[in-house]
Amino acid sequence: MSTPFENAIKQLEKSAKILDLKPQIFELLKTPDRILELKVPVKMDDGSLRIFNGYRVQHNNWAGPYKGGLRYFPTVDLDEVKALAFWMTIKTAVVGIPMGGGKGGVTVDPRKLSDSELERLSREFGKKLAPNIGPYIDVPAPDVYTNFKIMNWVKESFIDFRKNNYKKFGLELTKQQEKKMQAVITGKSVDQGGSLGRDRATAMGGFFIIRSLVEREHFQERPSVVIQGFGNAGSVMAELCLAEGYKVVAVSDSQGGVYDPQGLNIEKLIAHKQSTGHILGFEQGEKINNKELLELETDILVPAALENVITAENADNIKAKFIVELANGPVTPEADMILAKNGLKIVPDVLANSGGVTVSYFEWQQNLEDRYWSESEVFNKLKDIILPAFEQIWQIAEEKKIDLRTAAFAQALERLQNLWYNEYDR
Ligand code: NAD
Repeated sequence: MSTPFENAIKQLEKSAKILDLKPQIFELLKTPDRILELKVPVKMDDGSLRIFNGYRVQHNNWAGPYKGGLRYFPTVDLDEVKALAFWMTIKTAVVGIPMGGGKGGVTVDPRKLSDSELERLSREFGKKLAPNIGPYIDVPAPDVYTNFKIMNWVKESFIDFRKNNYKKFGLELTKQQEKKMQAVITGKSVDQGGSLGRDRATAMGGFFIIRSLVEREHFQERPSVVIQGFGNAGSVMAELCLAEGYKVVAVSDSQGGVYDPQGLNIEKLIAHKQSTGHILGFEQGEKINNKELLELETDILVPAALENVITAENADNIKAKFIVELANGPVTPEADMILAKNGLKIVPDVLANSGGVTVSYFEWQQNLEDRYWSESEVFNKLKDIILPAFEQIWQIAEEKKIDLRTAAFAQALERLQNLWYNEYDR
């Protein structure tokens, strides 16, 4: 199977052909601007020193500062981070926000660390990132197995680093300067400069699209939804779908999932996950594994976990009518072709999960302006960005008779090409 970055480049090649992208733009987008490989030493609770591998890939900043999450996961490697950083460049261009693309991560299973080890790791990672990030340079955010607490620690490390640098020159940061520096990272807790709604933003953006899809496609009264991954993106999506009256028939996490064709009680399931740490053992429904979950008969399938879960091997078994990709890179290019041949439509990650980065951009804006918005203001602004983007991509796909992913990439690449010509080719 191809790696995530190989898949990303195949997607780039496919849309570059449709658009007749200039070869120099293709060359520039094919590789990241900068790759940071970081050693992150951490004192463990037993007194030993462990050195973790950390990464930050700054893919492209033609539209604005590099932007993208930090992932803590045992399988994080440079290839994956490069793919995720590339997709961020495409994503920010799809929704047309003034941000570029980046991504980072640490190869670690944070569930195996104590709280104090996790804090020391995050503060040290922040220190290593600090010389290369900043509100106008590179703005990280949360991703898989990272959260607001980790963002707060990274932010504090960054501000300490800047304060020390100022001190070396006999200067001091003003309170105002320090406040603006909070914009170095998004997905912080609200009391530390986070935006209201950021914790629900990824799912909310995807949900606006699902609701529009349901209206457009005249589904049965209660469309059925299957969700893989029950973290930040997946669990909030389950709540939103249920609140809208859809039937959430199956969900899973890394250990497996549950299925009930009558619809699951999501509120109880969230409480169960919070108290036990997983979905398995929930009182309702039938136990299923992640492979079975993906192959269930359903109106909408929402992958909300990791890359490469729908491949050439299982694509022919997927029975959903639509896939809405809350996860990044869940469908390989080979699977994309099989699914299209079988008449299945995919709302691609670069559009479907762009609610996260859009509200991260709002958080950055609020920090820099020191003016904070209500949650309904945040979600209205998000809706005003994501729904027109969806409409436009749908139209491009219809006009050019191409799939939604290729249409989204073509739209993004055209914007990036224009930015490059305006900036560099004078
Ligand atoms: P999270 O850490 O909150 O949740 C991840 C979930 O995936 C957990 O429920 C975990 O148990 C599950 N999981 C892990 N391995 C699995 C496996 N092998 N099979 C099935 N489930 C598995 O992470 P998240 O923030 O919800 O991110 C999920 C996806 O959404 C990722 O692809 C991420 O890049 C993407 N995404 C997240 C954001 C964001 O703002 N958090 C924004 C855009 C895209």
